[in-house]
Amino acid sequence: MRAAILRAYGEPLAVRELPDPEPAPDGAVVSVDACGVCRSDWHAWAGHGEWANDRVPRGQVLGHEPAGEVVDVGDEVDRFRPGDRVVVPFSLGDGTCPHCRRGAGNVCEDGRALGFEAAAPGAFAERVAVPAADYNLVERPEWLGATAAAALGCRYMTAYHALAERTTVGGGDAVAVHGCGGVGLSAVQIAAALGARVIAVDVDDDALALATEFGAAETVNPASLPEEDDSVPERVRDLTDGGADVSLDALGIAETCRNSVRSLRPRGTHVQVGLTTDAERGEVSLPTDWMTRWEISFVGSRGMPPTSYPDLFALIEATGIDPGDLVARELSLSEVSDRLAAMDEYEATGVEVVTDFEG
Ligand SMILES: [Zn+2]
Ligand SMILES: [Zn+2]
Repeated sequence: MRAAILRAYGEPLAVRELPDPEPAPDGAVVSVDACGVCRSDWHAWAGHGEWANDRVPRGQVLGHEPAGEVVDVGDEVDRFRPGDRVVVPFSLGDGTCPHCRRGAGNVCEDGRALGFEAAAPGAFAERVAVPAADYNLVERPEWLGATAAAALGCRYMTAYHALAERTTVGGGDAVAVHGCGGVGLSAVQIAAALGARVIAVDVDDDALALATEFGAAETVNPASLPEEDDSVPERVRDLTDGGADVSLDALGIAETCRNSVRSLRPRGTHVQVGLTTDAERGEVSLPTDWMTRWEISFVGSRGMPPTSYPDLFALIEATGIDPGDLVARELSLSEVSDRLAAMDEYEATGVEVVTDFEG
């Protein structure tokens, strides 16, 4: 099979022939019809994470947002068989630990991150192996095509878990979204679908225009703030009559994280979704006295457990939102490197999906 491999940090991926994967006894092999390209791939490709001893190893097949069809299953697999249409969450659980059994496979103690570690080769490839298939694979409804499912596979489900499960956004809430890349735009669309009034924040007017299309009621560009509200939190508090009920940092830089916390009303909830870069090295200082004074909650959120997909599918069906709307561009395997390089400059808007594995 053809696969795109990380050879050296910051250098073009090598597209090569690799042997087809075999399923483990409890695993499956999925032929990949679509796989999204995301900021996490960029972090991996750029070699971030050395400070946390968490660099993605060279030789890794990247790609963690696949949708496709099962082509082979191991002897122990009961729920799936060849021909089943599936989507694969990037945070793979072992299916047996206490967290998995409580429905939180995304924080599995023995979990694997698809496309980020040697034990879990990724899906910028014609085929991908999935361990603990009965637990991890998600059946794809008839109405969900592979490209839209790939757009849903990481950022969309991450945004859903953050807004609907780590906190409970509902009708009439004011939700601020800081950073309108893939996960931020997904959060805008989902928060609006959940009935919230959404304030989208980004330094890029094109990203804000997309956010408006996806349901943001207001937008804030820090570069062009009115004089009377000269900081992002002031502007958000002004637009929400005292602060957002929920604020989400989709980017993970110190400034957006602190701005998000400071955008909240008393007793509001900040949800951290973006991971930091080499600049913050995993730590951001926060206004803890202020957070204590106003009973602010700070919540981390990572991916989504496979067991939550039916709820997300139900929301999509009930509200008519379409994760496929986020797809800005379809790519071939050999184009991935250029698109990763473009993220150095934050050039990518919307979600880009590999759909051609022969090119
Ligand atoms: Zn992703
Ligand atoms: Zn587990």
